[in-house]
Amino acid sequence: MQKQIVDILKEYGLKATPQRVTILSAIERQGHANIDEIYKDAKEKHSTISLATVYKNVTSLVAIDLLKEVALNNFKPKYEINKQPHSHIVCKKCGEIEDISLTNEIEFDTAKLIEGKDFLAEDIELNIYGVCHNCQNVG
Ligand SMILES: [Zn+2]
Ligand SMILES: [Zn+2]
Repeated sequence: MQKQIVDILKEYGLKATPQRVTILSAIERQGHANIDEIYKDAKEKHSTISLATVYKNVTSLVAIDLLKEVALNNFKPKYEINKQPHSHIVCKKCGEIEDISLTNEIEFDTAKLIEGKDFLAEDIELNIYGVCHNCQNVG
């Protein structure tokens, strides 16, 4: 795992500083994580890291597209390591996120929604909001 993160940083022309590696490992372990979750996880590995450092690093990694921000209704945005464009199912109760992929057919049909608009579509991402398995089972 650790080595992959070093490689990702190298791809983006960044030095593998302990802070960056710690932060990216935390995000990779959790899949999608908000600043507090990244900080909590990072602090276990790197006890001197501050919330401000996590925030600063995450912001700069988003700016160069290494990290992707997933904006959520009612929850703090979560971050994930940028990969193929993909869609999410999002639990409105706990903010849990899971990746889903759209079929070509759905993408094709969705692209029809902007027919007649002068808009150059690049990626189609869909968030489906609802209640996750765990939250359905809590009173
Ligand atoms: Zn939930
Ligand atoms: Zn995702």
